[in-house]
Amino acid sequence: MDFELSEEQKLLKASARGFMDKEIIPLVNDWERKYRPLPKDVAINIMKKIAPLGYTGGMVPVEWGGGGMNFVSYGVLIEELSRAWGSLSIMVVVHHGGALDLSRSGTEEQKKRYLPLLVSGNVIASGAITEPNAGSSNREMETTIVCDGDYYIVNGTKTWITNGGVSDFCAVVGYTDKSKGAKGISRIIVDGTESPFEARELPKLGFRSCPTAELTFSDCRVPKRNLIGQEGAGYEATMVAFLFPRAMIGISSAGLAQAAIEDAAKYALERRQFGKPIAKFQLVQQMLAEMVVETEAIRLLAYKACHLLDKGEVCFKECSGIKFFGSETAVRVCSTAMEVLGAYGISEEYPLERYFRDARTLLPPDGTNQIQRLIVGREVFGMPAFV
Ligand SMILES: Cc1cc2nc3c(=O)[nH]c(=O)nc-3n(C[C@H](O)[C@H](O)[C@H](O)COP(=O)(O)OP(=O)(O)OC[C@H]3O[C@@H](n4cnc5c(N)ncnc54)[C@H](O)[C@@H]3O)c2cc1C
Repeated sequence: MDFELSEEQKLLKASARGFMDKEIIPLVNDWERKYRPLPKDVAINIMKKIAPLGYTGGMVPVEWGGGGMNFVSYGVLIEELSRAWGSLSIMVVVHHGGALDLSRSGTEEQKKRYLPLLVSGNVIASGAITEPNAGSSNREMETTIVCDGDYYIVNGTKTWITNGGVSDFCAVVGYTDKSKGAKGISRIIVDGTESPFEARELPKLGFRSCPTAELTFSDCRVPKRNLIGQEGAGYEATMVAFLFPRAMIGISSAGLAQAAIEDAAKYALERRQFGKPIAKFQLVQQMLAEMVVETEAIRLLAYKACHLLDKGEVCFKECSGIKFFGSETAVRVCSTAMEVLGAYGISEEYPLERYFRDARTLLPPDGTNQIQRLIVGREVFGMPAFV
């Protein structure tokens, strides 16, 4: 058992942290207020700026212009990004998930067409599964993808789509044949530049700079060549594709909690009450001690999930486990950090309230935490409780 990052990963962490401290963190407070959410041109500029570090295509194979990283190394990058800016972190995880998925399941033609654009950050990816009437019960989705000569016609409404309004690469999941149940679900790339769709922004509690939209596809004509994989292969592929973002939500939780610890510790050393720094008080030390240990627990479980993914394991239990444990623990850690600051914990002049809002916003995406518990239960008992 080895709990150490490799020398290469330590360097990666140090260079990502250095970049975030210098280039991103000084902007975040202003940008979170100004951009709710980031407009497309600003979002693309930021994506292009962080692309050379590996954020936009780190795990995409080198032959397609990516960094050929493994899950653990990519996790190192995401932890540093999340410590710096939660909104950008969730945008990047969704974007990179789209690029990674395409590099694994796309046709040569699709890879040639889209991977260079995605890896360089010139086009932003999104993935659309959730619908107004089909959230956890995603198989009840109403979106249809109907063959019509050289095109598929997409009809339906997708909601809560991260990057939805700024994305020109949206992997839409829908039924090509409803009579076949899950085996009739397919995925198709809807490229907004050739197959326009409507986007309505959805304001939300956390990740305020990250665009999140409801997307409407009305007789949206999409070239047949954009189908990802075979007709009917979309559901299973989507369930496996969920492993990456769930593990990354765990990693992001560690990043947010780490930021909260650092800010709370700094404040506790500076703030004086009863003639001494509040860090001297045992109850304040207790808060910090619990935050540190809980954050380390998130980190260990999250990197263990990444390690298993690197070994090629389809580890539903570990990825769902860290998704619920990480996000809920991060909420607790960020809330405790706010307590360390007293009234200033809830002040918008400090970033603690943002970390807390962001951590709380991590609970529903990629399947609610109740559904994650049911997936762990399914893996334990060998039978699902939710179908
Ligand atoms: C910030 C954010 C980003 C997102 N990004 C995306 C995205 O990029 N693409 C995308 O497709 N979707 C995205 N989503 C949507 C997300 O995946 C859904 O919100 C989630 O799957 C839950 O669906 P719902 O919100 O409709 O809740 P519902 O399914 O209506 O659930 C409501 C409540 O009922 C519970 N519940 C439902 N069924 C069961 C059951 N069988 N047993 C026990 N409890 C149950 C849930 O756990 C929850 O507490 C995002 C959501 C958020 C908040």
